[in-house]
Amino acid sequence: MEVKIPENRVIIDNTEYSVDYLEGIHPGGDIFIKAFAGRDASEAFLSYHRRPFPHKEYGNTPIIPQNTQNSDYLELCDIVNKVLPIYKSFAPPSYYIKLFIILSFTFGLEFYIHFTQQYVWYLTAPLGLFIAWTGLNIQHDANHGAISRHFMVNRLLGLTQSWIGGSACIWIHQHVVQHHIFCNDVIRDPDMEGSILIKFNPNAPEAHQYLYQHIYFLGVIALYGFTVVKDSVYGLLCGVYFTPISPYLNVHMNLDLVFSALFLVRWVALPLYLVPSTNTIWSIGIMYAVAGYYLSFFFILSHNFSETRNYSPSSKESFLYKQVTSSSNVGGPWLCWFNGGLNYQIEHHLFPRIHHSHYPKIAPLVREFCAGKGIPYKHFDTIYENVVSTSLYLYNVARTTGIKK
Ligand SMILES: [Zn+2]
Repeated sequence: MEVKIPENRVIIDNTEYSVDYLEGIHPGGDIFIKAFAGRDASEAFLSYHRRPFPHKEYGNTPIIPQNTQNSDYLELCDIVNKVLPIYKSFAPPSYYIKLFIILSFTFGLEFYIHFTQQYVWYLTAPLGLFIAWTGLNIQHDANHGAISRHFMVNRLLGLTQSWIGGSACIWIHQHVVQHHIFCNDVIRDPDMEGSILIKFNPNAPEAHQYLYQHIYFLGVIALYGFTVVKDSVYGLLCGVYFTPISPYLNVHMNLDLVFSALFLVRWVALPLYLVPSTNTIWSIGIMYAVAGYYLSFFFILSHNFSETRNYSPSSKESFLYKQVTSSSNVGGPWLCWFNGGLNYQIEHHLFPRIHHSHYPKIAPLVREFCAGKGIPYKHFDTIYENVVSTSLYLYNVARTTGIKK
């Protein structure tokens, strides 16, 4: 039975630390500590710092000997750290040119549309694309703390998630606290939840419509952007996203609520006040369909493919094994440049605080290491191959009940 962790405590290697204490000593800012309040952050610490937690420095002896529990992961960290030391893992100067271009278009196009009152698809659709690139190339790295060693830079750029209709806090709770740690866990990964139209989770009940999801998933993913806005607002107001959100995050969630209200003013109230027409509604819908389609298309491919593994809370495999076998890679460096490295999903899940521009460099090391350990490492050469494999997974999962091992 899982032991309930007090709300004001964080567990690392079965050792309790007070949230207030960790916040005071954490150089990466308070938001990650707050997000993990009342939870076990052992694997989060390991994957963000690529070294064991220094319990002795804080007068504690870990109850579980750390180096035996995740020895394979720490072995890989040693290899990666030699090629890419921690202090060089953040964004290179050239990344800031890409950041500047994406943000210029994201803010500039929006301003132009409102200023000229041209709520037309041929302006809103490209804006949708830049919203997706903001999500993939900026907010994702920033909210993982991977852009800069200065946490305020990450925090500021992480707020782009709140600007584009989501919420930085909800995203950290959903993605960092839950999805990354429990990837493809049929009980604990919110990304396995699916919907009335899509079943990802083999444990979810069967339904007639799912029998065709391997075909229609390429259409319904356009709805993803709308669900992000809806779920973010609900999470901020109710304090729940799949699981209860740490109350310590409330102080940051208030800011996200202001952003959400602003988003609804920017993309609902203002356009309908300036140009009240169905064309306005359609054009704004297209913007969010484009953004949502681009984002969800690549999200789905990376964890739902025919050879993927699902896990449960009782799975005994190591952190490294679970992360590698529940993710897949596709393409190479050019797709990495456009998609913020999320096509190197395996490396991203192993090392979420390494900036995406470094993934092409470390991927061959990870692949070779996994081959040596006999860990399945899935790389698709083309997006087409990945889509076919995802379609096969969706076909099978629609006809499955129980974990596919
Ligand atoms: Zn991530």
